[in-house]
Amino acid sequence: MNSQVDIGLAGLGVMGENLALNLQKNGWSIALFNRHEEKVQEFLKQHNDPSFTPCTTPEEFCKKLKTPRKILLTVKSGPAVDEMIHLFIPHLEKGDVIIDGGNSDYRHTTRRCHFLEEHGIHYVGLGISGGMEGAQNGASLMAGCTLESWELVKDILFSIAAKKENGEICCMRAGTDGAGHFLKMVHNGIEYAEMQLIAETYALLKHLLRWTPPQLQALYKKWNQTELNSYLLEITADIFSKTEPDGSFTIDKILDAAKQKGTGQWSVQSALEIGTPVPSLAQAVFARQLSSMKEERQRASEILDEVPVSSGNSYHNSFADSIRMAYHASRISVYAQSFQMLKMGAKFYHWDEMQMEDIASIWQAGCIIRSEMLHDIRTAYKNDPALPNLLLSEHFHHTITEYQRDWRITAATGTLQGIPLPGITAALHYYDMIRSTDLPANLIQAQRDYFGYHGFERNDHPRGELFHLNP
Ligand code: NDP
Repeated sequence: MNSQVDIGLAGLGVMGENLALNLQKNGWSIALFNRHEEKVQEFLKQHNDPSFTPCTTPEEFCKKLKTPRKILLTVKSGPAVDEMIHLFIPHLEKGDVIIDGGNSDYRHTTRRCHFLEEHGIHYVGLGISGGMEGAQNGASLMAGCTLESWELVKDILFSIAAKKENGEICCMRAGTDGAGHFLKMVHNGIEYAEMQLIAETYALLKHLLRWTPPQLQALYKKWNQTELNSYLLEITADIFSKTEPDGSFTIDKILDAAKQKGTGQWSVQSALEIGTPVPSLAQAVFARQLSSMKEERQRASEILDEVPVSSGNSYHNSFADSIRMAYHASRISVYAQSFQMLKMGAKFYHWDEMQMEDIASIWQAGCIIRSEMLHDIRTAYKNDPALPNLLLSEHFHHTITEYQRDWRITAATGTLQGIPLPGITAALHYYDMIRSTDLPANLIQAQRDYFGYHGFERNDHPRGELFHLNP
C-alpha cells in the first residue's frame, strides 16, 4: 500500500469536516476515517478532491499515512477518545503521533499522554477554539505535549491556525501533557463569564430602560466600535436583528433556559482543586443551571413577591452608559481572575512554558473570546511578566478607577430592582476582596477554632504560629 498521505483525520463531525477543509486548503493530503463510514462518503460527495483519501478500517487508515504517522482525532470527548486510541494502537509504530483536537478533560489528556508514552507514541492534547468557522478558516490552537512531539506537529498546526493582521500565528505549545486542554478549558470558562456579563447588560437594558431589540442592536454595535470590541459583542448585536416571518423578534421567542456541555463546570471544579478563586466563572455556570430550572422558576414566580425598595421606571437612557462601564470593569475582573487561575495552574502542574503574554496573544484572533481587551492584557504582561494580578497593571487600574462609581451604581440598581446580576456583582466582589486588608475572616478563624480547635494565626505574631481561643 502506498503510504503517502500527510495526516489522518478521525471523526468527521462538525469540527472534523471543517478542519479537513482547512488542512486541504493548506496543501496537506488527508486520510479520512469515521466510526460510521457513510459520513466519509457524504463528505466526499460534497468535497471531491484528490487530497482526501477515504478509509474504511483503522488498519487501512494507518497504512495510508506517511511515517511518523500523524492522526488528528476530532471525536466527542470522553470514552470515544479512548476507544479511537485503542482502535489505532495496533496499527501504529513508535514515533507516531496522535493529536486529540476535541474538548477533552485535561486530566484525561495527561493520563492518555502517559499511557501512550509507554507505547512510544506521542500524544498532543490540542485545544481548538473558533467553532466551525475557525476550524475551517483558522482557529486559535493550544497544544500540550513534549518538545519532541511539538517538532513533529507544529508545521501542520501553524498552517491551520488563525493568523493576525501582523502575521502572528494563534498557536502555542502551552506545556506538556494536559496543558493545552487546560488552557482551552479556562478559555471556555472565560467564554461563559463573558456571555453572562453581556446577558446581564441585556437584562438591565430590557427591564430598566425598556429597550427594544433594534435599540439593543444599535447599542451593542456602538459599544463594539469602542475598547469593548469583541466577537461575542459583535454576534450579540446581530442576534437582536433576527426576526420571525411575522416580523416579531426571534430573541423574544427563545426559551430562557441555557444549556452547557461541561467545560465551564470543569473550569470551576479545577479552580477549586488548584485553590484559585474564579467567582465570576462559577456564577456564570450557576446562572446557566438556575436558568435551566424553568419549571421551578415559574412556580416560584407565582409565590415569591418582589418587595419594591426603590421606585422603578425612572431610569433615563443615559443609564446605558453606566451599564457600559459596569460591563467593562466586570470584564477586567473576569480576566484578572482567569489569568490568576492560569498562573496558578501553570505553577501547580509545572507548565513553565505557559506564559501569560503568549496566551493573550493567541486568543486575539480565531477564537470565540477574541477581543480588544486581550491586546491590553498582552501589553500588561509584556511590560511585566511577573505581574501579581492584572488589576494592578497601570492600564486596568486606571480604567477601573474611572469606571468604578458606575460599576457600583449598576450593581446596586440591579439589586434594588430585583434584577439578578450574579456576574457583575461577583466581579465587583472579587475586586473589593482582593483589595481589602480587613476581611472578616478573623471571625471565621475564631469560629473554626471554637468548634474544631483548628487554631488561628495572630496579626501580632509571625505567620504559621497557631493560637487557640480556649488554650
Ligand atoms: P459532532 O457531534 O459534530 O461529531 C462527533 C464526532 O465524534 C463524529 O465524528 C462521531 O462519529 C464521533 N464519535 C462520537 N462518539 C464516538 C465513539 N464512541 N467512537 C468513535 N467516534 C465517535 O462533534 P463536534 O465536531 O462538534 O466536536 C468534536 C470535538 O470537538 C468535541 O470534543 C467538541 O467538544 C470539540 N469542539 C467542538 C467545537 C464546536 O464548535 N463544535 C469547538 C471546539 C471544540 P459518528 O459520526 O460515527 O457518530
